[in-house]
Amino acid sequence: MPIIYTITLLFITFLMTYLYFKYSCKKELKAFIDSFLDSQQSIMAVYDAKGLRLINRAGLELFGYSSLSTLRGSHSDIVDFFIEEEGCLSKYTYGKRWIESIYNDKKNRNNTVKVKIFSKRDELEYYFYLKISKMHDSKEYLLTFNDITKLEQDKNKIQKLAELDPLTQIYNRVKLNEIFRTLFFNAKKYNSVVTMILFDIDHFKQINDNYGHNVGDNVLKELASLVRGLLRKEDIFARWGGEEFVIVLEGASLQETKKLASRLREEIEKFPFDIVEHITCSFGVTEFTQRDTEALFFERSDEALYEAKESGRNRVVVKEAK
Ligand code: GH3
Ligand code: MG
Ligand code: MG
Repeated sequence: MPIIYTITLLFITFLMTYLYFKYSCKKELKAFIDSFLDSQQSIMAVYDAKGLRLINRAGLELFGYSSLSTLRGSHSDIVDFFIEEEGCLSKYTYGKRWIESIYNDKKNRNNTVKVKIFSKRDELEYYFYLKISKMHDSKEYLLTFNDITKLEQDKNKIQKLAELDPLTQIYNRVKLNEIFRTLFFNAKKYNSVVTMILFDIDHFKQINDNYGHNVGDNVLKELASLVRGLLRKEDIFARWGGEEFVIVLEGASLQETKKLASRLREEIEKFPFDIVEHITCSFGVTEFTQRDTEALFFERSDEALYEAKESGRNRVVVKEAK
């Protein structure tokens, strides 16, 4: 009996010691991880099978919460904070199991995605590279956010410079050619309707001669802004060169495109331009057909515009494919 009693006592002592060490070590480890994460400038978070486990101070600040419990009280997952934008991850990209999906995506070898977040701290939008790593020997994931906002802003600036005409701030020829490639591909493959308006200022040389090049430049700016304002956001508008502009529509019939060109012609004619007061434009309208090449499509628009000029200017000429 005393032996059994001693063995039981020994077992209980052993168990208590084991549990004490296990518990206190875990507690210490957690405290260590907490303070390590908090000391990091970049946002860090830990997820386990049940969801968000830890988030450091930088993360709480960005999302506008004072503690993990208040954050979890209103959001079960930080994916809720990711703003939808092309090229960025949002809650709709992968759904609930987004962390595993990114981690297990064989094509994404760095386990990194781009995210956009609105910061409650300073009410600005930030971009991050979010890297997902597995914590050693466990089912927990560590999320590390690297701020790439400056990089993204620089990239956007360069991209804009490359695709916008500096004078009129509408698309330039390079960008238009790039758009055309996709449009023609869609038109051939899916039979989508593409129409074009090519227009050119009448007697623009006289404006330069009479008022000087700066006034001419200003007319180009005013005209581009007037026309942009009369178009829908999705209509493509570009400066083809000099005082010649292109509008490309997807899904509009030739008749609808002609109507738009006529409206633009009228609006330009009655618009009070600065200094020169009054200008007119001539318009060529055409539709892309299945037998067309890019060159033929442009040639036809050019012919229509030429006819508009030849027949007295300030008019719209439609040229159908033969
Ligand atoms: P038309 O009615 O036949 O179109 O006559 P036009 O005088 O408009 O045509 P033309 O092609 O003879 O002249 C176009 C002029 O546009 C010549 C060029 O100096 C001027 N131009 C081209 N690009 C610019 C620019 O960026 N700024 C200014 N101010 N003028 C430009
Ligand atoms: Mg002209
Ligand atoms: Mg011209």
